[in-house]
Amino acid sequence: MSNGSFPPEPGRRGGTLAIVLAALIPACFAGWLLWSSLGDSKDDGADGVGAPTTSSTSSPSPPPSGAPAAPAPPTPSGNASGKPLAGKVVVIDPGHNPNNRDHPSQIARLVDIGTDEKECDTTGTATNSGYAEASFTLDVARRARTLLEARGATVRFTQDGDRPYGPCVDERAEIGNKAHADAVVSVHADGAAAGERGFHVILPKSVRGGGADTSAITAPSRRLGERLRSRFAKATGSEPARYIADGSGLDVRGDLGGLNLSTVPKVFIECGNMRDSQDAAQLTDKAWRERAADGVAQGITDFLNE
Ligand code: ZN
Repeated sequence: MSNGSFPPEPGRRGGTLAIVLAALIPACFAGWLLWSSLGDSKDDGADGVGAPTTSSTSSPSPPPSGAPAAPAPPTPSGNASGKPLAGKVVVIDPGHNPNNRDHPSQIARLVDIGTDEKECDTTGTATNSGYAEASFTLDVARRARTLLEARGATVRFTQDGDRPYGPCVDERAEIGNKAHADAVVSVHADGAAAGERGFHVILPKSVRGGGADTSAITAPSRRLGERLRSRFAKATGSEPARYIADGSGLDVRGDLGGLNLSTVPKVFIECGNMRDSQDAAQLTDKAWRERAADGVAQGITDFLNE
């Protein structure tokens, strides 16, 4: 919406100049109008940026006052193409649980992750000012749900602030499996050293053991992770973390129950480093979280539309 090139004032000097200007002005003005309208549609293409409420961005611009309001638009999503995710099932797994801290013994219980045993769940990290990772994950997950549902997806959560603790990591995987999810994304934020910044996506390693066999999901999960990396970077302006996975933004792990036990495409995203003050300033900012959710939703959308 930059106000660059309004038509210049006509000059009063030479007659020839006036004629030339008279011929040029309508052309310039028409060009400006075209440019202006293109600029508007580009803004809308950003889809959800800066919208802190639950409604996704809708029409490119409001109708002029006095114009009849369009009744119930046929394309309620931000995309003009209708509902690209109709029939798709997405499971969002908000990492940890704000109440885990009050249930230390329950979340410390060991569960079978196929290749090993691990704690049921953990409390997660927090910023220095006390903003909990579990609050962050739930907020971003809910924002992403709004965006995905607007595109027609059926979205399920592993927890929605409605459990006393957990669920345990094995159940988190099971929820995606039982839903026959087309994609599962587990939302987290990291607790790395101060000074380390950026996001990364965690992909399932090919593991087999006990109830774990990820051989069928490693390839689609990698594609999901790549789409997520690309869209998240674009939506937030963040870069892949340099402190892990050689800065590629794609870490492969075989020690996470939520990935080991998944039979459907699944990745984790660590959206930033809560222990770094600059990242923390973003993670605690609602508008940034909306952009993060937009990146997650767009990454999933890209993957499911292939
Ligand atoms: Zn976490």
